[in-house]
Amino acid sequence: MADSNFIDYVKILCRSGKGGAGSRHFHRAKYIPKGGPDGGDGGRGGHIILKGNRHMWTLLPLRYRRHVFATNGQSGGENRSTGKDGEDQIIEVPIGTTVFDADSGDFLCEVTEDGEEIKLLRGGKGGLGNWHFATATNRAPRYAQPGQPAIEKAVVLELKLLGDVGLVGFPNAGKSTLLSAISAAKPKIADYPFTTMEPSLGIVDYRGGKSFVMADIPGIIEGASEGKGLGLRFLRHIERNAVLLFMVPADSDDIRKDYEILLKELKEFNPELADKSRVLAISKSDMLDDELREEIAKDLPEGVPTVFISAVTGQGLTELKDLLWREINSEENKNNFTITHRKLDTRHRVQEEDDFIFEQEEPEEDDYSNMTDEDWNEEFWDEESTVNPE
Ligand code: GDP
Ligand code: MG
Repeated sequence: MADSNFIDYVKILCRSGKGGAGSRHFHRAKYIPKGGPDGGDGGRGGHIILKGNRHMWTLLPLRYRRHVFATNGQSGGENRSTGKDGEDQIIEVPIGTTVFDADSGDFLCEVTEDGEEIKLLRGGKGGLGNWHFATATNRAPRYAQPGQPAIEKAVVLELKLLGDVGLVGFPNAGKSTLLSAISAAKPKIADYPFTTMEPSLGIVDYRGGKSFVMADIPGIIEGASEGKGLGLRFLRHIERNAVLLFMVPADSDDIRKDYEILLKELKEFNPELADKSRVLAISKSDMLDDELREEIAKDLPEGVPTVFISAVTGQGLTELKDLLWREINSEENKNNFTITHRKLDTRHRVQEEDDFIFEQEEPEEDDYSNMTDEDWNEEFWDEESTVNPE
């Protein structure tokens, strides 16, 4: 597992940035002996944000980035100048990444769309500079707010393998061959931990620059029929396929029966899988002559779109892709499926009012209006301050 490229579980420590302190500076200039308070606000600390990226397949990059720390906001300066904000850290994750609180185990969120941003940790707000606190009775407040502290959280990221289309078939149905015939890219996916299965994903190019993802998950039926343990870990992968492509080879004794066995095993495995859109491909159709083909066509299972294909000659592959594309994008699937192929939104904005999963509580508003200079001195003045009032 150590060298596996396919990482679907990683724990990382995240920390947002501290807010910068407000400044308690007093204006000084020649001929203006008693300038007022002009300490600016601290900058906010950097946020920690998760962002879905459909070009990522595994959590592998995060394995080498176990600590994700945003930088702190800088302190405010003189002349009401605001400190620089800390830099946000954006953690790019594959679509289908589920996020848990590592300490409590609580589910936090799931990244389901390309470009989607999940605001995980809010950077500490910067403190207000002293000029905000000037009042009629206190023209020279020596108080400035400190910045809010940072937030630190360990989170667990877990990836559910995503494919628009999941391949379902007995061994030797031709699943792997199909995937290599129609997919443009085949990311190498090494030893699959725990189950010793090696799911592989292929990006299938579809007319005019569109694409969808097909997942060959060996063992879905092989394992089940042999009574191998297909645990939850595996289940969570197939759950995410929008469409299931059943494959039965043309030389099967009874195509309809094979299809029904596959369906039954699937239902036993998880009844919900039966609700997914299905397409049936009769593979290795190059082995059929016209007569045989007609015969088979007369006795196909009902209620499932069927197509004759051959990964070897290419026969029926375009038709198959059309069918799959239609199913992937059907209204029904749009409602219960989450992968979308929207353009990546590269702009990055966080609004002040956005909700974060973790953020500091707003401090209660202090009322300084009735304080005298003495109160201020007692309460807020400390020796370490670098700025001396006149
Ligand atoms: P899988 O176990 O479902 O992944 O099946 P494979 O893709 O490994 O294929 C099993 C066997 O069927 C291999 O010997 C392939 O060469 C053969 N095969 C796959 N697709 C075709 C096809 O379209 N036509 C023919 N004639 N043979 C095929
Ligand atoms: Mg195979």
